[in-house]
Amino acid sequence: MKILVLNSGSSSQKSSLYEIGDAIPAHPPAALWEGKIEWEKREAKMQIRSADGANLSKRVQAESRKDAVGLLLDELWSGETRAVASAAEIGVVGHRVVHGGGEYQQPTVITPAVRESLARLAIFAPLHNRAELEGMEVVEERLGGVTQVAVFDTAFHSQMPGAAFVYPGPYEWLGQGIRRYGFHGINHQYCAEHAARMLNKELNALRLVTCHLGNGCSLAAIQNGHSVDTTMGFTPLEGLMMGTRSGSVDPGILTYLMRGGKLKAEEMDELLNEKSGLLGISGVSSDMRQIIEAMKAGHARAKLAFDIFVHRLRRGIGEMVAVLGGMEALIFTAGIGENSAEVRAAACEKLGHMGVKLDGRKNELDGEDREISVAGSATRVLVIHAQEDWAIARECWRLRTAVCGGRRMASSPRTV
Ligand code: AMP
Repeated sequence: MKILVLNSGSSSQKSSLYEIGDAIPAHPPAALWEGKIEWEKREAKMQIRSADGANLSKRVQAESRKDAVGLLLDELWSGETRAVASAAEIGVVGHRVVHGGGEYQQPTVITPAVRESLARLAIFAPLHNRAELEGMEVVEERLGGVTQVAVFDTAFHSQMPGAAFVYPGPYEWLGQGIRRYGFHGINHQYCAEHAARMLNKELNALRLVTCHLGNGCSLAAIQNGHSVDTTMGFTPLEGLMMGTRSGSVDPGILTYLMRGGKLKAEEMDELLNEKSGLLGISGVSSDMRQIIEAMKAGHARAKLAFDIFVHRLRRGIGEMVAVLGGMEALIFTAGIGENSAEVRAAACEKLGHMGVKLDGRKNELDGEDREISVAGSATRVLVIHAQEDWAIARECWRLRTAVCGGRRMASSPRTV
């Protein structure tokens, strides 16, 4: 079965095509086709890579997000990098949906009713949920009645106990949907399952802390294969310091800044989401590579940004371990987690009392999924490549197989 995955960003759209046969392979296969389109105003840059090594890079005109996504999808069955003869070859389309609220705890077949409730949930994640809904519309226009599935970034955290997801504000907040949801769940779940395979252990027997450190950063405490706590909350702004996001700050700062109406909600949003974090502190960049480079060149604010990032990361790991009552493995994933030996070494430096012993040489080596702790380390330390699109494809395959044994779904699919 060929499965197309759509992963929307605020001004970009990524898409991958996978093929899964009778069973899900233990190791993620290469995508048959990968495309990305990024746009600014009316100009968009498209990049495509197919499994046989063909590459395409071109600039196109796009009036809107929908236009851009449509142009990207057209490349699937046209031109030199095409991967299918026609749209009919695609059996199911999976969408990464950032916010499923409290309602969606599983991958779900998209029906008109589901779309309506995703539109309602857009008040929690306006940029993301609207982009995802537009993606669904474009797929319907281009691929007709193909089955579409929503895979939620919040779903993996839906089993968190009340103590972890209820804010200690007024109890009425809960009824208004103001609670902790958590994000990056698709990758936290994928990493937990993959770690169990790498360690040759049952997932149910493991207490894991997964560190998703990319442009956005979050930790998850995982027990019995479920997230029992995570650092992001009502929005992806809570928790760790990030590239341009502050992470948790004293809410009293916000009321202090807003008092007298000097700062409006939109300005506050921009300050905390786009002008804070590594960029806000260093004044140099939101990219950890440039922060480390500047720090090594003696830039004091870049060093402070690195130190805050590591301090908060280490503190967050400690919190997650305290929630779990111990940990069998610590996992680093996403851009910084996979690539920055400096961040991993600094984060693990003071975790010796938790049984974490990093192998300095292994930590410096590049590579795919790997163990970087010394032989005999009580807590194993792993690096796992984030494979969000593959994880979404896998969920689509599971759902499709469970619902109709791999046959094409009826045109009125049910929510699972
Ligand atoms: P992601 O959101 O997972 O794509 O991660 C993107 C971020 O990963 C970038 O903004 C960089 O900060 C970081 N990154 C990528 N490569 C490296 C590297 N070699 N060293 C440090 N950070 C890196």
